Amino acid sequence: MNMEQYNGKRVFGGIAIGRLYVYSREDQQVKRERVEDSQREVLRFRKAQEEAIDQLAGLHEKSLQTVGAANAAIFEIHRMMLEDDDYIESIENMINTQKVNAEYAVAMTGDNFAEMFAAMDDAYMKERAADVRDISERVLRILSGEESGGIEAEEPVIVIADDLAPSETVQMDRSKVLAFVTVHGSANSHTAILARTMGIPALVGASVSLEGSLHGKMAVVDGDKGLLYVDPDPETLHIMQERRNALLAQKELLQTLKGKETITRDGKKVMLYANIGNYKDLAKVLENDAEGIGLFRSEFLYLERDTYPTEEEQLKVYKAVAETMAGKRVIIRTLDIGADKQADYFKLPKEENPAMGFRAIRICLRRPDVFKTQLRALFRASAFGKIAIMYPMITSLQEIVRIKEIVEEVKRELTKDGVPFGEPEQGVMIETPAAVMISSRLAKEVDFFSIGTNDLTQYTLAIDRQNEQLDDFYDPHHPAVLQMIAQTVESAHRENVWCGICGELGGDPALTRLFLALGVDELSMSPGNLLAIRKIIRETDVEEEGEAVRKEFL
Ligand code: PEP
Ligand code: MG
Repeated sequence: MNMEQYNGKRVFGGIAIGRLYVYSREDQQVKRERVEDSQREVLRFRKAQEEAIDQLAGLHEKSLQTVGAANAAIFEIHRMMLEDDDYIESIENMINTQKVNAEYAVAMTGDNFAEMFAAMDDAYMKERAADVRDISERVLRILSGEESGGIEAEEPVIVIADDLAPSETVQMDRSKVLAFVTVHGSANSHTAILARTMGIPALVGASVSLEGSLHGKMAVVDGDKGLLYVDPDPETLHIMQERRNALLAQKELLQTLKGKETITRDGKKVMLYANIGNYKDLAKVLENDAEGIGLFRSEFLYLERDTYPTEEEQLKVYKAVAETMAGKRVIIRTLDIGADKQADYFKLPKEENPAMGFRAIRICLRRPDVFKTQLRALFRASAFGKIAIMYPMITSLQEIVRIKEIVEEVKRELTKDGVPFGEPEQGVMIETPAAVMISSRLAKEVDFFSIGTNDLTQYTLAIDRQNEQLDDFYDPHHPAVLQMIAQTVESAHRENVWCGICGELGGDPALTRLFLALGVDELSMSPGNLLAIRKIIRETDVEEEGEAVRKEFL
């Protein structure tokens, strides 16, 4: 028995070890039959449609609890599709005019609509082709009296399929599914999104053929590397078991905190947010129960390409993040390029001292064309969710004045163009000593502060954060940095402005108690840290410990 190895596109990381379960959708062999009593057929269809709607409502309810509102929304979309006048009319018309059975009319309409969606240019509409097939199959199953498919296995299995519809995925008994592997399917499909949210290792586009006898074979899914091993040899199995155990132990400990409030023992709530670099990071955000996005480093959008991202390209990403976060706050930082983050097409001059050079807001104010494109996309995306905009590397009030002028221009232009936009909150990063020192004045101009402790440490201690020779001197716990944080929070609160921390210290468990004592309102961090920090917050009594903690650090 030789080990076989296949590649796939990574959807979600982690290791799964178990037997393969080849899942095949029962082919709905729909026959065309002549039916004289069209009225009866229409009634059969309507009853099945009603039952399908009930099922979808149940699925929506179930997935709200298991995978969250944003992912549950697919079942609302399916329900709306099932109630769509054109869809219903097409089916009933076919039954009445062609004198055919309800099954045939549903199957034909499903195919026709799916083809129509698939032919559309818009990527989102294209994806709907799978959804319309899915709803039609649901109605067909009900018409034929068939139950919807489950996994018939004693032990949890690795489900391998040609493709999976979102409803199939969510209906699977999660205690039976170790991982998903599909031969087809896009990594952006709802099925992939569901797998990510469930935190199950998953691969799509796997190079494996389902023709052979895979069913029941031992396999390993390495979701981190995008690999599927079938009949793993003892050595591979051992390595994978070790990796899986280490990952599980870490996770297990913190799972109990999911869904719990982020609140101290004496009742102080803290906003527990996540940092992301792109849309893909949202999986971890959802998995770790973030209450919002505290820092979306938008420059990564610019860095992963060879030309400026257009307004439409940016809009698509910002909108997708806002929609996925389903009403939770998403703080998007405007372009923070320069210093170590260089993109050739910006043609930035080579600098002697880039950390103190032409970067972030300085570039945006010098290049209003680039800045305005991003602002237009951000204001437009704000119409689709709770977006907040954050400006990096602020050092003066004049910069705020200039930003506001540009923002006003952007809003005027959008209004003139008849393009809808929202009214996002606007805040600044406090990451230079200058910003700290004028924070009481800055607070009068903005909706919030977010402290960038990485740069604040660099500029306070005069240590280039990129210089590895200075690592021993780079001390973000330095009392000077902590005093600056304290001062910034005070300035914010005097003006009723909230204040968060989105630099690495935000997720530093050694300082969480201090930040609570200082009254920090929001902590934003890598998603993997969230639950550990929630645990500390829930164990802290600020009233009782605050004074002592302040004395310890400041
Ligand atoms: C910071 O400086 O702390 C920060 C959050 O921004 P970045 O690390 O991207 O510079
Ligand atoms: Mg910074």
